[in-house]
Amino acid sequence: MKLEHIGIAVKDLEASNELFKKLFNSPHYKVESVESEGVSTSFFQTGESKIELLEATNEDSAIAKFIAKKGEGIHHLAFEVVDIDFELERLQKEGFQLIHQTPKDGADNKRIAFLHPKATNGVLIELCQEKK
Ligand code: ZN
Repeated sequence: MKLEHIGIAVKDLEASNELFKKLFNSPHYKVESVESEGVSTSFFQTGESKIELLEATNEDSAIAKFIAKKGEGIHHLAFEVVDIDFELERLQKEGFQLIHQTPKDGADNKRIAFLHPKATNGVLIELCQEKK
């Protein structure tokens, strides 16, 4: 599994885009809203991996709840897999708790699924597979 991106929960996407642009000396290359998740996202390329900034677009969004509970910061690690259906089945057999039993559409042209952080040392893990 390759580290595809790190997701960071932010309160103000526009302000954070400016901040990370200064940090990387390079702007984000994409902004995308995932309405089903209640998030607005932006992506920065950092070598082979990416940084995904996530801002809540409504208060029921998982990102809004995360920020209310823990504040801004690292939200999830996303690993790219070749066959997400196979990996979900394999991980479930290994005893990992899945948040999504079947993959759903995510940002950046991907099918994604999350593992429950209870089963992964408190780290929210996303699996993703590029849509063909
Ligand atoms: Zn992500």
